[in-house]
Amino acid sequence: MRANGVALSVGAAMAGAALLLCGLALGEPRPDKFAIPGTDFQIPLGPSAASSAPPSPALVDAIGKWIAATIDLRPVSERPAFRFAPRAMLADLRYGRILAGAKAGAMTGYDPTRPAPDIVAFYDRSTKTIYLADDWSGNPVHLSVLVHEMVHHFQNVAGLRYPCPEAREHLAYLAQNKWLALFGSGLEAAFGLDRLTMLVKTNCIN
Ligand SMILES: [Zn+2]
Repeated sequence: MRANGVALSVGAAMAGAALLLCGLALGEPRPDKFAIPGTDFQIPLGPSAASSAPPSPALVDAIGKWIAATIDLRPVSERPAFRFAPRAMLADLRYGRILAGAKAGAMTGYDPTRPAPDIVAFYDRSTKTIYLADDWSGNPVHLSVLVHEMVHHFQNVAGLRYPCPEAREHLAYLAQNKWLALFGSGLEAAFGLDRLTMLVKTNCIN
């Protein structure tokens, strides 16, 4: 069974995750902008970062350039489409796609009677669309979610094949962690994803 989409689910830590800005001493004023390394694109920080608008083409291109320079993945020129949806709907979409693409009896690990997992983003490979939770904003932690899903878009457009869904996750989480490191954070600090959890999420062990 091969899922048609790739979802990112995290703990509740995301919403309130605090970020430390690299190289800042206590008492120094915090910068209100951050230039994405290797690009001249600046992302706003602080309260001005909040935005419910879809990521701009310039932001998507800058993040794509950063991803290609940071991890072993060739960039693609085709941009993904974006849609916003409530978190519960993201779970329905994600598992609906899996159910639609699964043969009878092939589903494991999904019980529709259980509460929806805390899915904050989802990449639909068939429509090349990144679905973001409707509380997504342009802050650095939320942008790390965009980085993660952009990696899946790159993988999809390039037609890369992986032995299991977890193997596809490896590069996505690697890029996301490197992005968070730009802000003095990481997957564990921002999302509560510890080393053992990451081992399970990124290796073909099932
Ligand atoms: Zn993923």
